[in-house]
Amino acid sequence: MALNDTEGERLLAEVAARRAALVELTQQMVRVPTLNPPGRLYGEFCEMLRDRLAREGWQVTLLRANGAPGDSDAHPRWNLIARTDGARPGETVHFNSHHDVVPVGDGWTRDPFGGELEGGRLYGRGSCDMKGGLATSIIAAEAFRAACPEFAGAIEISSVADEESGGFAGAAWLAEQGWFAPDRVQHVIIPEPLHKDRICLGHRGVWWAEITTHGRIAHGCMPFLGESAIGHMGEVLHEIETALLPALAARRTAMPVIPEGARASTLNLNAIHGGEPEQAADYTGLPTPCVADRCRIVLDRRFLAEEELTEVKAEIRALMERVRAGRNGFRYEIRDMMEVHPSMTDRDAPVVRAVAAGIAQVFGRPADYVASPGTYDQKHVDRIGGLKNVIAYGPGVLDLAHQPDEWIGVEDMMDSARVMGLALGEVLVRH
Ligand SMILES: [Zn+2]
Repeated sequence: MALNDTEGERLLAEVAARRAALVELTQQMVRVPTLNPPGRLYGEFCEMLRDRLAREGWQVTLLRANGAPGDSDAHPRWNLIARTDGARPGETVHFNSHHDVVPVGDGWTRDPFGGELEGGRLYGRGSCDMKGGLATSIIAAEAFRAACPEFAGAIEISSVADEESGGFAGAAWLAEQGWFAPDRVQHVIIPEPLHKDRICLGHRGVWWAEITTHGRIAHGCMPFLGESAIGHMGEVLHEIETALLPALAARRTAMPVIPEGARASTLNLNAIHGGEPEQAADYTGLPTPCVADRCRIVLDRRFLAEEELTEVKAEIRALMERVRAGRNGFRYEIRDMMEVHPSMTDRDAPVVRAVAAGIAQVFGRPADYVASPGTYDQKHVDRIGGLKNVIAYGPGVLDLAHQPDEWIGVEDMMDSARVMGLALGEVLVRH
């Protein structure tokens, strides 16, 4: 297994010869504003990429996630899968990227869709997260194929919709259709911007829930005739602050989550609302005096591989029951909004060892192993696709994702292309 010295040198030369092509491909991608929401120009992006890949001899399939969440004729959810086969049968390595980008936001000093190149940085919304990673995986695969045309197996590239909004019309949909079934794909690398010398083994779990407390409306000048849903919620918040949060902070995971603070279990109060609906900003009148009959919070609970989702939910339910026991007339409900199970790939998994070998060779030091505080499409490959041999590895600085003046370093992409090419050699070349 792995490349011999001549093949290794040939691979690095093939990567080096593609620097301009890598920059140009990334710029082409950044210049299509595939904004999500609402899911703009996915079709145009996939067609542009299909033409580019077909010219280089890839077999390309475009797939619309018909009827999946978010899919409509105005904003169809298009996905792309490309494949190139080696000279002999063997395993398939699949690079999975997403083409949607988050809204631009304020604070830019560059054209967010210009693809400007300056000082070795390529700027634009989605350059780092993660069109740069997608372009890098394509260039790595093409350089590998040129260096080792006799390779065994196949390489696939996917570019999918909606990762930023849960991936249900993208990676999840492809997984449901069997595209990640372990009998057709054996290794998946997701080029999210986790840094060029780090392997991301997985991510924490998520539970989003909405809790509503109920009261009884009355005139605000006689609050004793009503019952305040806000007062009830105040007690819930007190219980969360004083009992639940310290308990969560004390729970530590063996997952190598970065940043360090996210190695505990966490809870964010994402939203709160009680009483009369908020008025439009241009409304100049006063509110009317009412006792709040409803109060609602949205919880964003991130949990660890060591925790079970059923226990996570039961813990909140028990907290609500404690509050109820101490308050007359306390009524509440909990609504599930979204759940994601944690995903964690073994350090000894073949795809981890292949990428680690590439990192060691390019940087002359061992890879760092991390896990992500938030989720990405790994959950769908793992939980729906049933493939455990999956990681995130790609160029870029995670902190720049979703920020103004987002950029990706050209040298970082080149280094990652070297690592990806060497990793392909680990899996697809047999002597
Ligand atoms: Zn991303």
